[in-house]
Formats: sequence, C-alpha cells, structure tokens
Amino acid sequence: MTPGETADKQPVLLVALGGNALIRKGQKGTTEEQFENLAVPLGQVARLSKRSRIIITHGNGPQVGNLLLQQECCPEIQRLPLEILVAQTQGQIGYMIESTLDNELMKIDREHDQLIVTVITYVLVDKKDPAFKKPSKPIGPAFTAEAASLLPYPVVNTAKGFRRVVASPRPITIIEKREIARLISTGFIVIACGGGGIPVVRHGRAFQGVDAVIDKDLASARLAREVGVDMLLIATDVEGAALDFGTGRERFLRRLDASEGLEMLRRGVFPPGSMGPKVEASIDFIRSGGKRAVICSIDSIEDAAAGRAGTEIVA
Ligand code: ADP
Ligand code: MG
Repeated sequence: MTPGETADKQPVLLVALGGNALIRKGQKGTTEEQFENLAVPLGQVARLSKRSRIIITHGNGPQVGNLLLQQECCPEIQRLPLEILVAQTQGQIGYMIESTLDNELMKIDREHDQLIVTVITYVLVDKKDPAFKKPSKPIGPAFTAEAASLLPYPVVNTAKGFRRVVASPRPITIIEKREIARLISTGFIVIACGGGGIPVVRHGRAFQGVDAVIDKDLASARLAREVGVDMLLIATDVEGAALDFGTGRERFLRRLDASEGLEMLRRGVFPPGSMGPKVEASIDFIRSGGKRAVICSIDSIEDAAAGRAGTEIVA
C-alpha cells in the first residue's frame, strides 16, 4: 500500500511487545538472539499489516538494565539519568524492530514499499503522582547489601539481590500523539512508546525528564486511546490471563468481563508489575471506546487478532 492511498480505511491495531519478544527465558540476550526472537512476532505483524494499520510498542527492562550495569561497572563515565537511558533503548530497540520487520515484509513481497518509522516518545507524568513518594519498581542489576549501601539512590531487597528502585508514575498523555496519528493516517507503521516512554513533567510550556519508568502496558493503552486505535493486543510470554496462575488449578481465560476483571485486580489475581497492568490497560481501553483488547502470547498474535487465541477483555 502506498502511503495515503487506502490507509485511512483500515482498522488500527496496536501491538504491545513484552520483554520476551527480544529475550526469552534462559537466554543470555545476545544481539543475534534478540534479532532472531523478534522475527516471531514481527513475521505475524508483517502479515497483519496487509489488513490493518499498525502501531508497535515495546518494553525495555533488560536493555535499560544493561545500560545501568555498564555505568555501574565504569565509575569514570558520567552517570546518565534514567530518562536518557530510556531514550537510548527507544533508539536501539526501534532499530532492531524496524530492520526485522522490513525483512519479514520482504519475505512476503521483495519489492514492498511499506514505510516504517520509530518515534522517540515522551510521556507526561504528574510531579505529584504518589508513586514519587514511594518508589516501587526495581530496575537494573542486583547488588550485595554492602555494594548497595554505597549507591546514590534507594534500593530494595529482591529475590535476585539488592536493586535500585524508581517511581513508576501513571502516564497522563503521550506528547507525540499528534505526530503518531498523522503518520498512521498516511500509512506508516509506527514504533512508539518504547519502554513505556521517556517520563517527563511539565515546566510551564516546557518538559523536563524525570528519574522514573512508566509501565509500557499502561502507556500503550493511553496511546491507543489518544490516537483512536481499534484493537489493543498485548503480547507476552504466557497465553493470556489465568486464574490460580502457577498452581495445579491454573486455567487461562478466553474471555474476561471488564467489571469482573476489576474485581480480580482488587483481589490480587493479576499482580502489579506483571499481569496486573495488562488487565488494567485492556479494561481502560475497552471502557474508553476501544473495540477489542486481547492479551496473548508472542507466537499467537495473528490468532489473537482473529479471535482464536488469548484472553479477550470484554465490556
Ligand atoms: P512482559 O514483559 O510481557 O510485560 P511480564 O513479566 O511483565 O511480561 O508479565 C507476564 C507475566 O505475568 C507472566 O510471565 C506470568 O508469570 C505473570 N503472571 C502473574 N499472574 C498471572 C496470571 N494471573 N495470569 C497470567 N500470567 C500471570
Ligand atoms: Mg511487564
């Protein structure tokens, strides 16, 4: 399809890629592995792009963790604030997604003329968000108690060791929403909101980056609302949302009613920081007029779009 030709008539699909799209459990996460892993979701996205306009968002946990580790290992280099590291991962992962998607599109049509672009994305958060008073999101490498005590920021003791904690404020608005909407309407495939976006606060008319991370599922739902997405597809390393997850009685849901989902969120069935924000983002999207929201595995994106896989959140 040529940009501007029939793009406006096709539904808009937002695919949020989880960490396993790049690095699978048990892998080291070499660059080769990450490119190879990306081909699985992006082959499907390439095929879906023949019938839908596409926005891709993605996480950045291990990638930003590596950048943090690099700066911890080399005290001579200037420590970069988190907002800059998030921006770096948007560039690096955007490049990997663009080039892999281009390869997958070429498998369908060697001469394809699909335009793809990565948008550096800021996301506005509120300076007064209670998350800033109670940083809760562990990021980066794990340290011993002794090493952690020398670090210039707050840490928590996790199963892996002591890790830096940062605030995870709620996304208020996607600053580049107009640019993204314009690109989509003229037929571009857009990669945006990487790592949940670069968190910024308002200073009058200007923006200032803050040391925080934004949940990529919540940011994706916000973007989906703001640019008028039809379907939100959250792809992760399990087949959907489950009851009694991780127990002998585990069962994955094919459908989840939004009000029941909210009740389950309150009861802790879907924990914060993993399945919780996916269910919350889906409910948020459906309740604000989105047509379909599905949580699925990375290898069943096409089936989920066709209504054959994943957990569909219904109003
Ligand atoms: P992503 O990188 O895709 O955002 P997360 O690790 O944040 O992945 O979230 C997916 C994880 O949520 C699954 O791997 C699973 O271990 C966990 N999880 C927790 N509770 C549930 C549940 N009730 N149903 C399904 N998965 C769950
Ligand atoms: Mg996650």
